[in-house]
Amino acid sequence: MKDKVVLVTGAARGLGAAVAEHLEAAGARLVRADQSFSDGEGPEKVALDVSSADSWKRCAASVREEFGRLDVLVNNAGISCRADLLTTDDEDFDRVLRVNVWGVWRGIKTFAEDLAAVRGCVVNVGSVYGASTAPASRTSPSSVAYQASKAAVHQITRVAAVELAPRGVRVNAVLPGVFRTALLADLPDAELNRRVQRAPMGRPGEPSELGPVVELLADEAASFVTGALIPVDGGHLAA
Ligand code: NAD
Repeated sequence: MKDKVVLVTGAARGLGAAVAEHLEAAGARLVRADQSFSDGEGPEKVALDVSSADSWKRCAASVREEFGRLDVLVNNAGISCRADLLTTDDEDFDRVLRVNVWGVWRGIKTFAEDLAAVRGCVVNVGSVYGASTAPASRTSPSSVAYQASKAAVHQITRVAAVELAPRGVRVNAVLPGVFRTALLADLPDAELNRRVQRAPMGRPGEPSELGPVVELLADEAASFVTGALIPVDGGHLAA
């Protein structure tokens, strides 16, 4: 990672913050981007709403001006909406798809030329719940929009890998299982445990356990790996 310029979206907290910290410790030059950052916090802390085309444009201008290149784009920003198939509002469904799917697509589209110029790569953050279903119950609705959005992220990963391979850009995804972050803060303990127990390892992931896998995918050691969806889930998907 030495001197690689890496942009991590949703880097203010949770998994994005942990991934950014890990890659920085490995020698990368980090651009942390988040909707909770304000303009003017500096080129390494960029205000970015991934659901806005203008915001992506401003972010790209800042990266180009300050760093002159981008080696790795980590599309991590994501939101959930805890509601069932029949109770999800139209607005909530649109919002989740706009951030989680459109935001990933727009990020890749925005930086594709920059990445091609240095034979860089993209790592998307999907979810085990884009490749299996979350348990639904009265106390824990299914989050249908979220699950659908993550399946779309997986497919964007494959399509982008195919389309960008001739340009020398690799595109992969990590699929986290259950990690204890703010995203799951509203889940009752019993439900969280139920999800955790679906993974054979029987414990939640620590945010620090995601960064090393992102690093591996971003490293030139993985130069023949593209279009891969890598679970980081304590065995959840295997089970
Ligand atoms: P989190 O809520 O703790 O952090 C998400 C970050 O993204 C926040 O800093 C937030 O400000 C930012 N963000 C939200 N909307 C944004 C937008 N429109 N533009 C820019 N930034 C925005 O969540 P987390 O658990 O760290 O999740 C990070 C990613 O990991 C998400 O894509 C999530 O779906 C995925 N994931 C998490 C888990 C888990 O167990 N926590 C499991 C599977 C996948």
